[in-house]
Amino acid sequence: MDEIIIAEAMHGQVRIHAADTTQLVEDARIAHQMYPTSCAALGRLLTGAALLASDLKKEDEKIVAAVNGHGPAGTLIAQAKGNGDVRGLIGDPAIFITNPETGKLDVGKAVGTNGYLTITRDMGLKDPFTGTVKLVSGEIGDDLVYYLAMSEQISSAVSVGVLVNIGDYSVKVAGGLIFQLLPNVPEETIEAVEKIVQEMKPVSAYLDQGMGPEDIIHELFDDAEILDRRSVRWHCGCSYEHYRDALAVLKKEDLQEMIDDGKGAEIVCQYCHSKYVFTTEDLKEILEKQSENR
Ligand SMILES: [Zn+2]
Repeated sequence: MDEIIIAEAMHGQVRIHAADTTQLVEDARIAHQMYPTSCAALGRLLTGAALLASDLKKEDEKIVAAVNGHGPAGTLIAQAKGNGDVRGLIGDPAIFITNPETGKLDVGKAVGTNGYLTITRDMGLKDPFTGTVKLVSGEIGDDLVYYLAMSEQISSAVSVGVLVNIGDYSVKVAGGLIFQLLPNVPEETIEAVEKIVQEMKPVSAYLDQGMGPEDIIHELFDDAEILDRRSVRWHCGCSYEHYRDALAVLKKEDLQEMIDDGKGAEIVCQYCHSKYVFTTEDLKEILEKQSENR
């Protein structure tokens, strides 16, 4: 099962979040029928959002990460909740481009660099916190590091990765790591972490060797202490009731128009492609309730 391990190391000066999101990203791939480069791009963003959300205290708090670099992938959105539920979407799921030199999936090219990464922390308060940075590389990991530094004044290292089986496009492994340095740590701690980051492999390489998040943490940090573990999964959470409520906030005239044309309404969830059908009778009922409540 997919999980995120939270640990600290170097006498509590470094906080580590390590995730195995293989099943989550595979479920996302199936939901959106994604080709390899689209899958790697969205898989990295889903993993990044899940890692950031693993600090949330309450079930319904959420992190929403949105990227648009004006590349062929279009807009990518990942939403991760405090209870471990993650969902997301991508403008074009059918992208398969590789870097001709390395042969690797070219996420940076698919996402593009002419745009922004926006992260919203919705803690259930009136005004959610939102930070936006220009994209650095469109590779997602670098962009998250830049965001944490600029918007939240956190020094970090981020590795997010997805390996795809080229035969059937299924996800081989997916996961991520975030190291966060506490404020005002001594110079030698910074240097020690930089050395680890320089020498470590991409997170997907460790997972591909059969290591889990906890193994990776112990491999990289001698004195790591595990603080918490959380499960994560691909789960949309949409429902008939959710979309009925969405229809109920439409203008009276718009609802009346839908009733008059007699075709009912069909709503397809953009995150999971579930289909919700509302008959003309359903729409009349929604309109009646709306009139009662106003
Ligand atoms: Zn849905």
